Parts: sequence; C-alpha cells; structure tokens
Amino acid sequence: MKYMPPKFSKLSDMAAIDVGRLTEDEARTILEGIRWPKGVSCPHCGSIKVTRIQAKSEKIRDGVIQCNDCRGQFTVTVGTIMHRSHITLRQWVQAFYSMCSHKKGISALQLQRNLGLHSYRSAWHLAHRIRTAMGEKTSAGKLKGIIECDETYVGGKPRKSDGKKHKRGRGTEKTPVMVLVERNGEAISKPIERVDAKNLQSAIRETVDKSSTIMTDECRGYYGIGQGFEGGHKSINHTMGEYVNGDISTNTAESYFALLKRGVHGTFHHISKQHLAKYCDEFSFRWNYRKVNDGNRAEAAIRGADVKRLLYKA
Ligand SMILES: [Zn+2]
Repeated sequence: MKYMPPKFSKLSDMAAIDVGRLTEDEARTILEGIRWPKGVSCPHCGSIKVTRIQAKSEKIRDGVIQCNDCRGQFTVTVGTIMHRSHITLRQWVQAFYSMCSHKKGISALQLQRNLGLHSYRSAWHLAHRIRTAMGEKTSAGKLKGIIECDETYVGGKPRKSDGKKHKRGRGTEKTPVMVLVERNGEAISKPIERVDAKNLQSAIRETVDKSSTIMTDECRGYYGIGQGFEGGHKSINHTMGEYVNGDISTNTAESYFALLKRGVHGTFHHISKQHLAKYCDEFSFRWNYRKVNDGNRAEAAIRGADVKRLLYKA
C-alpha cells in the first residue's frame, strides 16, 4: 500500500473538520508526537535505539516498533488507556478531541454516532477512560491564592409522579459536590459525603495551600476554616442578598457550577453517584484548560493517558 505522509502532526494546528478526516497513520503520528516529543523511547527499558517494523503482511500490525536493546516490541498505545482496545487510533483521537471541545461535554450516545461505534457500551467505556486521563491532568498540585469554595447538589433522578415541587439544595436526595476554584486560575471539584464542617473543611485543607485566602458563603460548615490559612476566611452573606462585598464573592465558583449543571442536566441527564467524581474531573479539566484551543486541550488530555502512572498513583 502506498504510504501517504500525514498532512498534520499536531492537533493544535487542526480544526474539528480535519480531526474528523484523519487517517489511521496520521492519528498514530499525532499520538506518537504527544507521547514521545523528543523521539520514540522504549516503554520497557527506556532505550532510544528503536526500529520500526514494516507491516508487510496482515499478521503484523501497523505501528509496531522494536527496541534494539531489550528486543521488546511496542506501539504508541502500550501502557496507556488506549491499550488493548478495539477502537482505532483515529477514533481515539477524535474522541479525545470531541470531549475536549464540547463545553458541556458529549454524551456517550452522541460519541457512538459520531465515531460510528457498534455499541453504546463501548462508547461509554471509551468516554470513561478519557475522563480518567483528564482527571490525571486536573489535580496536579495544591490550589493557591484567593480560593472560592462552594457546594451545590447534582444528579438524582427527577421524580415526576408526585407532582410536587422538588426540594432544592441542602436536604435533598442529590449528591453534594464541592468546588474549590482559584480566582483566575484552576478548579478542583469533587463529590462529598454530606455538607458539614468535617467534610467541607477537610476538602479545603487537602486541596488548598496554606498561604491562601478562603472565600465562601455564610454556610455554617465553613466557620473557623480561616485559622489554617495565612489569608484567613472571608464570607459573603447570600441569604441577606449580598453577592459581592469589596473583593469578597464566590462568583467564580458559581460560574463553574453553572457549567457543571448545564452539562449534567443537558448532556448527561443522569449521573450515578458512583461515577460523579469522574464527571467532576472532566469539567475541572476543561475549566483548567479553558484558555487554550481545542487541539491543545485534547493534547493535554492525551498526555494524561499513561496508565502506568495512573496505577502507580492509585
Ligand atoms: Zn527496550
């Protein structure tokens, strides 16, 4: 078969329409460029002396590389979330790109249609693995500076039969989610067991650097949190109709929740408690990379796809 040199080698240079037209060879070149920016190195022994195996027959897969030192063979997907899947590389790249470019996320059903996958199940698993890679890129370090903390409630199936208005906020069946967001910076969100001082404050201590200032609403659960932080604790009284007081507000945290809720209600409809943390990672990831283009964001997600590091961290 005649080899067509890839037209693009970087996702950041491409538009969505180009990503949709990628060939398998082009997708492989893109993935190799992200995994090995300084040239291919053996995932088994680290050697950079490698030989590409020519796929002359049906029995040899495309993209196999052999290490000249340890003689091991590998492809770009070895040791990543993409390993041992029946999904082609161009579908993987397109899936990463789709999930990174849709602000409210993309449903598994839509992914299945866009990528031409045979089952909803494989689309769901594909999306879930990508969320794992995104999660790897969200919580790199502690948050610093002015940190807005807030909680909201998401998920839970709406009850249509009772005809009553659903209870909102604290005291409902929905799962509480907490967001901690640096003003003009990164965000971390996660489900918490319940909204009480113990859960709220331990989440803050785990994720926020001691030099920071904590900003919250008047929720009692935050009382006393300022003691652990150099910038102390400032709060805004929403029940008194107060939303901004000088530099005190939780407006950034609320913008984050608005996005999360639009995604949960508009795209995903129902998210089980069990998987909510993964969706939170997905939204934090897109938030944290909101200032770069879709291609750069997709590259960042792909860089999180290294399974060995994921297993090691777990
Ligand atoms: Zn090797």
